[in-house]
Amino acid sequence: GEEDLRYKILEINKQAALFYVKQLRSEKGKQGLAYCAKRKLSGESITHFGLGYAGKERDSLYQYCKSLGFKDQVLQESGLFSFKENGVYDKFFNRLIFPIMDLHNRVIGFGGRVMGDGEPKYLNSPETKLFEKSRNLFALNFSRKSRANYFILCEGYMDVISLHQWGFPEAVAALGTAFTEQQADLMKRFNSLIYLCFDSDGAGKKACKRAISILREKKLEGKVIRLSPYKDPDEFLKAEGKEAFEKRIEEAKNAFLWEVEEKKTEFDLHDPAGMQKYMESIAELLRTSFSDPVERENYLKAVAREQMLKAENLQHLVDKEEEKT
Ligand code: ATP
Ligand code: MN
Ligand code: MN
Ligand code: MN
Repeated sequence: GEEDLRYKILEINKQAALFYVKQLRSEKGKQGLAYCAKRKLSGESITHFGLGYAGKERDSLYQYCKSLGFKDQVLQESGLFSFKENGVYDKFFNRLIFPIMDLHNRVIGFGGRVMGDGEPKYLNSPETKLFEKSRNLFALNFSRKSRANYFILCEGYMDVISLHQWGFPEAVAALGTAFTEQQADLMKRFNSLIYLCFDSDGAGKKACKRAISILREKKLEGKVIRLSPYKDPDEFLKAEGKEAFEKRIEEAKNAFLWEVEEKKTEFDLHDPAGMQKYMESIAELLRTSFSDPVERENYLKAVAREQMLKAENLQHLVDKEEEKT
């Protein structure tokens, strides 16, 4: 039945993970190891995260799994293979492999990165009976054991591994999809403070705003880590090192105040009409974000202070919006 199938997929994943690890350490895996070195991944990180390598042959994992006695039907359900008219192919080839584990350290899927340039840069296992992307976070199995009372949420596998390697084992990442409510629930089981550490490009900022609204809904505290002038935490750490990142954690900004700061760039504040729209947008954000009047007032005062606006004026705009609804 269903349970039996899930168990079999787990078994295939485990064998696949071992196969990829072995390949990375074999003659064929030289290129993979060279890529790890280029990305400054330590041997310890490679072992800890169980990184592997999928070689250039198109069906070596498939042949291996057949030799272990797995039947085509379950292999198909595993999501690791493409069943075509002219044969069966491994989905991952010539990629560095990142096993994705659940809270019990069981391998539920994989991510794979091309060596160097190539498209798509990352490939992830498809959803299977076992692997629900929206309900898992990369490296949560490790980070939940950290003694800190927070998580650092970032974008990619490389970011997470780099952070752990540099002494920040609180890092996790969503799995190549947008951050979800279920992932927030999952984190809430362990910690209630989340440092957001998304890429500093437009896509990262957008993902950050989306994550903030989910955190707020789930009553989790969010703080935003500033990475500029670097693109992501991996690049930041390589350039600036551990202590500089610790400083960025200390300086991390309250998520709401960060959002307001971001809003600022959307308006021309030298123009009174632009100023009016800007203030209205803050009022709207205050109104929709906080239902508790005390909390709303605390944020209103903080925003007024930081943005050098009159608190009474902001309050007036919030009240005006309230009356409309
Ligand atoms: P690298 O440092 O290896 O270039 P990155 O993690 O900085 O990678 P981003 O482009 O910032 O790469 O992507 C962040 C994350 O989004 C990746 O780790 C991956 O999980 C996911 N991702 C990126 N590109 C793709 C893609 N083409 N298909 C699916 N997921 C992707
Ligand atoms: Mn990105
Ligand atoms: Mn990167
Ligand atoms: Mn990135």
